[in-house]
Amino acid sequence: MSKDDWAVADAWTGLRLHWHGYVERVALAHAATREQRLKTEPDEVMVNPDEVAAWLEGTIKAASAPALIKKPAQAKGGATEDARDFADSMQVWRSLASQGESVSTGVRGQIMATAEAVTERECDCQTAAPGSVSRLSKGRRR
Ligand SMILES: [Zn+2]
Repeated sequence: MSKDDWAVADAWTGLRLHWHGYVERVALAHAATREQRLKTEPDEVMVNPDEVAAWLEGTIKAASAPALIKKPAQAKGGATEDARDFADSMQVWRSLASQGESVSTGVRGQIMATAEAVTERECDCQTAAPGSVSRLSKGRRR
């Protein structure tokens, strides 16, 4: 893999995307589907790939903070990754998001963080910018 594989594209700008961030404290097998997620209020709304990467990093870091990992069982798991260094992951997340993708990541058994890419057609929460039409006056679709 060369660095170019994870380049940040500008595809997302033309798609008028934003991302809805959802944090689920369940195992991957029990995670919600995109359809289910989009029906609920997001935990966070991101408007560009940088925010997506930053949100994922912050969420995962908070979930995997050393203070929270107290179980001795963690020690004999074998695979000890440095949960503090997310630079590579962030580059991948930023790249995926910039291509208009939804991005999911998590800490096994603890948390799932998903940034669902949402188009203006699917959700207009970002079009009601300050100064324009109030989102309240437009009401919710559906
Ligand atoms: Zn939205």
